[in-house]
Amino acid sequence: MENSIIIVGAGIGGLAAALACGQAGVRPQVLERADKFSEVGAGIQMGPNVTRILQAWGLADDLKQVGFEPHHLKARDTQTGQVLGTLRLGQRSLDTYGAPYVTIHRADLHRVLLQKIMRSGIAELHLDSEVQALQQDADGIHIRGTNLPSGVTDVSQHGAMVGADGLWSATRQFVVSPTDPRITGLIAYRALIPMLSVPEKLRLQDVNVWVGPSVHAVLYPVQSGEFLNLVVVVQGRPPAHLDHWDHAGNKEELERAMGPVHADLRDMLAAVPAWRLWPLCDRPPLQGPHEMAKGRIALLGDAAHPMRPFLAQGAGMAIEDAAELARSWVRADLPVQERLQMYAQTRWARNAQVQQRSIRNGQIFHLQGPLRWGRNVAMKLLGEPLMDVPWLYAGP
Ligand SMILES: Cc1cc2nc3c(=O)[nH]c(=O)nc-3n(C[C@H](O)[C@H](O)[C@H](O)COP(=O)(O)OP(=O)(O)OC[C@H]3O[C@@H](n4cnc5c(N)ncnc54)[C@H](O)[C@@H]3O)c2cc1C
Repeated sequence: MENSIIIVGAGIGGLAAALACGQAGVRPQVLERADKFSEVGAGIQMGPNVTRILQAWGLADDLKQVGFEPHHLKARDTQTGQVLGTLRLGQRSLDTYGAPYVTIHRADLHRVLLQKIMRSGIAELHLDSEVQALQQDADGIHIRGTNLPSGVTDVSQHGAMVGADGLWSATRQFVVSPTDPRITGLIAYRALIPMLSVPEKLRLQDVNVWVGPSVHAVLYPVQSGEFLNLVVVVQGRPPAHLDHWDHAGNKEELERAMGPVHADLRDMLAAVPAWRLWPLCDRPPLQGPHEMAKGRIALLGDAAHPMRPFLAQGAGMAIEDAAELARSWVRADLPVQERLQMYAQTRWARNAQVQQRSIRNGQIFHLQGPLRWGRNVAMKLLGEPLMDVPWLYAGP
């Protein structure tokens, strides 16, 4: 059993890990506590560093069908409406980085991964199956949980366990000492609306990032351009139940938190009938490989490195983790613990860099007063070179 893996969690990270490991010839068991496979109704952006991996897994056609390839990423000022800078995506992403920049509905990406796994039968998927705790003694690492598949009782008999169980990970406690995620004091209001309900002159083919004093908004098409995904991030008090990240949002509260904004943005937001609200949590950037793997347990995605969404790479890093996990795992000449160490060594610094840069982006987006003016001037002068992220998009 030295070559088998239990993956805890079937979000985007867990399914990506199952697909990558399955294609590498391992047949992982995936344990998901929910009683059906699902993802929340919101969009994500994927840079060429991520789509390159998905293409290598044989998902290029699926991405073309359900994703959207925006032509540009435009930064605009929430007060003046001025375009501060434009990053060409589309063909430039293909020419420069060898893969497309794609915006996609999370449920579509989740379904594409799930279907690929199910069609090829390369992983065993168990719903309604929750890992609650891991306990180590002289006999091994015992798994406690509800509705675990028969035989899934001890990690050492299963080669390894990969915690892809998200922000409030139960497996994380085995790798690092238990601490709660950090409350950032930022709230994301999210909505998905039919593009046809947006005023005609404001319908988008691009990613628009509006930046303003203590507020920013990100808008982009998903589902082949038929829907518009909107996210507005403001300062705010989080709701009581943080471990549940999807709440109903109040339109008036959002408008109060945003203050006055340019008419184009105001008119687009006015087309939203109902908002969902997500309190944003993260963890400080990783300090070393010891925070991603210990013994026979490794962490992946938000379980290891939850980040602020201001570089749009949380799911992307989970997918990069998954690809690396499979690459390390096929080193059958090495003991399991060394393979997981190799995975952690390869991944931690890049994940930490992305976590750090996401924090910095948030600060830059929300600048006020003279600093805001300085940012706008710099963006107008430098434009594309300032907005491009070659170390990220050309990697990993
Ligand atoms: C506002 C916002 C915008 C974002 N935009 C982007 C973007 O544009 N691009 C991008 O790449 N990322 C983006 N992200 C980040 C991205 O959504 C996350 O990083 C990503 O979804 C994490 O996936 P995951 O699989 O690691 O965790 P999760 O999606 O949290 O999945 C964890 C899974 O584990 C299951 N689970 C949990 N505990 C247990 C247990 N004990 N036993 C069994 N199963 C369990 C859960 O039910 C769930 O299915 C954004 C995030 C936010 C909040």
